[in-house]
Amino acid sequence: MRKPLIAGNWKMNGSLALVEQFGRALADARLSSSVEVAVIPPSPYLAAAQAAFDGTTVVLGAQTVNPEAAGAYTGEVSAPMLAEFGVHYVLVGHSERRSLYQEDDMAVLARARAALEAGLMPILCVGETLDERDAGRTEVVVLQQVKAVFDALDARQRRRLVIAYEPVWAIGTGRTATPEQAQAVHAAIRACLVAYDEKLAASSRLIYGGSMKRENAAELLAQPDIDGGLIGGASLKVDDFIAICQSAG
Ligand code: PEP
Repeated sequence: MRKPLIAGNWKMNGSLALVEQFGRALADARLSSSVEVAVIPPSPYLAAAQAAFDGTTVVLGAQTVNPEAAGAYTGEVSAPMLAEFGVHYVLVGHSERRSLYQEDDMAVLARARAALEAGLMPILCVGETLDERDAGRTEVVVLQQVKAVFDALDARQRRRLVIAYEPVWAIGTGRTATPEQAQAVHAAIRACLVAYDEKLAASSRLIYGGSMKRENAAELLAQPDIDGGLIGGASLKVDDFIAICQSAG
């Protein structure tokens, strides 16, 4: 019922050559239609990526969005602009945005709303730090991040979100949550969504991120509440990324 989503977040990495390499390789890979695949390159590569993935089922994502549609916000990119390049998903609340650019829950909500208004689907990233996990606060922190956005949206908007559970201590560290740790948090998020609507809880895609790679993807993706992956480092190597997509199908 929930189609797995594998999304590759390139962060501030890549090149035009890499976009073209991915376009060729993902077209040749003939990925299963039972998995949705998204590539999330840096914004300057969106036009090239749109052309490179034309004719494939790969969809495009963006790494951030400004809450405003236009205006004097030097360096920023708006949701209507992203929509013009065929962008489907946009990350909001990634831990690097929260920690490096001080984006708090209100800022995350504003970005999610802007994305929804432009017809994009936000991928809401949530996750606890190592200190918070060690203090036994994982669920409180993660569910608070989810509720800060979900409480403020209406039922139709909530259905358009994907949630990515990304423990901060696992992002880019090579340290992955065990399948049991990840499953436990995904199950807690799904249980939290029941409070809004049972159908929403059953149909929402909850994906895992944090050092997912070809060696551990299958085990994580086999968990009942894990509906895909948000992949950072391993999404830059085309063979690894394709292998992860194949383990979801
Ligand atoms: C990410 O940046 O969302 C991520 C999960 O990174 P990595 O896979 O490198 O841990």
